[in-house]
Amino acid sequence: MSWCFETDSEFQEKLSWITKFTREEIEPLDLVFREPGDPWDPASPAARAMAPLKKTVKKNGLWACHIGPELGGEGYGQVKLALMNEILGRSRFGPSVFGCQAPDSGNAEILAHFGTPEQKTKYLKPLLDGEIASCYSMTEPQAGSDPAEFTCRAQRDGDEWVINGEKWFASHARFAEFLLVMVVTDQDLPIYEGASIFLIEQGTPGMEILRNSAVGPYAEQGDGVHGYIRFTDCRVPAKNLLGEEGNGFLVAQTRLGGGRVHHAMRSVAVLKKAMDMMCERVLSRTTKGELLAQKQLTQEKIADSYTQILQFRLHVLYTAWLIDKYKEYNREVRKEIAAIKAATPRVLQDVIYRAMHLHGSLGMSDEVPLMNMWANIPEMGVVDGPSEVHKVTVARTVLRDHEPAADVFPTYHTPTQRARAMQKYGHYLNKNGRAESTA
Ligand SMILES: Cc1cc2nc3c(=O)[nH]c(=O)nc-3n(C[C@H](O)[C@H](O)[C@H](O)COP(=O)(O)OP(=O)(O)OC[C@H]3O[C@@H](n4cnc5c(N)ncnc54)[C@H](O)[C@@H]3O)c2cc1C
Repeated sequence: MSWCFETDSEFQEKLSWITKFTREEIEPLDLVFREPGDPWDPASPAARAMAPLKKTVKKNGLWACHIGPELGGEGYGQVKLALMNEILGRSRFGPSVFGCQAPDSGNAEILAHFGTPEQKTKYLKPLLDGEIASCYSMTEPQAGSDPAEFTCRAQRDGDEWVINGEKWFASHARFAEFLLVMVVTDQDLPIYEGASIFLIEQGTPGMEILRNSAVGPYAEQGDGVHGYIRFTDCRVPAKNLLGEEGNGFLVAQTRLGGGRVHHAMRSVAVLKKAMDMMCERVLSRTTKGELLAQKQLTQEKIADSYTQILQFRLHVLYTAWLIDKYKEYNREVRKEIAAIKAATPRVLQDVIYRAMHLHGSLGMSDEVPLMNMWANIPEMGVVDGPSEVHKVTVARTVLRDHEPAADVFPTYHTPTQRARAMQKYGHYLNKNGRAESTA
């Protein structure tokens, strides 16, 4: 029997180092580099500032450590990655400095599994080394949650595929060296059998970025990182189809589950950061002759936040543990991934709102990071599929383990159950020790 909530002392030492390094070296980057693409764009000034930090991380054996040793990582698995991410998520630069940033980490997994040797040499190695960026593009302007509505398609023409259509919100497309794009290859089949993933190199004729959207109200329109892309007779070699034709969703599964868990892991860091701010503030501010911390309505906010964060964190770690245990994403693993994905925006909303509220006017000003955290919550409910879709996955899986009642009254109908129980134990109620009629 093993059931353990402890971190071994050797890894705890690493976590302590990561905490100090993140607070002292990485978090200041957020205050200097504020363009939407800064953490990911290899050509940004931030990339130069990050380079020595990445070197230090590599020297300490903590670079891309969720990836297996065969690809140059440490093979730490998801639980250790969760413990790291709940520190790294304090900064938007954290994952990039440690080589575990989305969408590159998931794209590397796809390339490792399905890329040709030539593609691996050209793209996988520099991607894993953090030298280039990549993009994963599936969503279309008219369709996101429901892939059956996708229309961007490819037709085979000799040794090439010809792609026509549009893609939307393709993160990092403008500075990605290559894009992994989900395209319909057989429109007569259901989408889960009729779509494939293509590797499309940046600069391929026929691929055009129409504009770049940003999340949030950025003053300069168009400098966001989410590309609106049009493909017009865009030709890609047949070898750029990853995996089997029609297996796009199978290939995508290699990355989507991981991505969803990683958002939740990083959200734990955001929650802890908001909680720290909330606690410091209520211990510092006096109102009506006493600290805010001494008011019971404040204490309720602290207690509720603490409990929600702990519940969420344990759920995230449990899910990470399940992935490590079962490796492939089976039904149970998918259920938990969907559950924490759907829980993420709700817990962020509750805790960050309380933290902002307890800071009063300062909380919603641009002088503390809370408003920024608040502005990032909605994307957690939509990115990698909206909460509704994940809740449907959870509910369907939960319901599979239950059956309808055989009778008009439920199995837990008290009079029926009591009658059976009386037959078993009722005689203890009688002096003579015989079962009593329950009629
Ligand atoms: C920050 C960010 C980064 C992103 N990066 C990428 C990327 O790199 N690549 C990529 O391909 N995509 C990316 N996306 C797009 C993302 O995957 C889609 O936004 C998501 O799949 C939802 O699709 P949609 O935006 O078209 O919303 P829609 O599908 O139009 O859904 C809108 C709303 O309708 C409701 N809804 C939808 N389906 C159901 C249902 N079955 N039951 C009940 N209600 C439902 C929900 O309230 C949902 O929020 C990104 C999105 C964000 C916010």
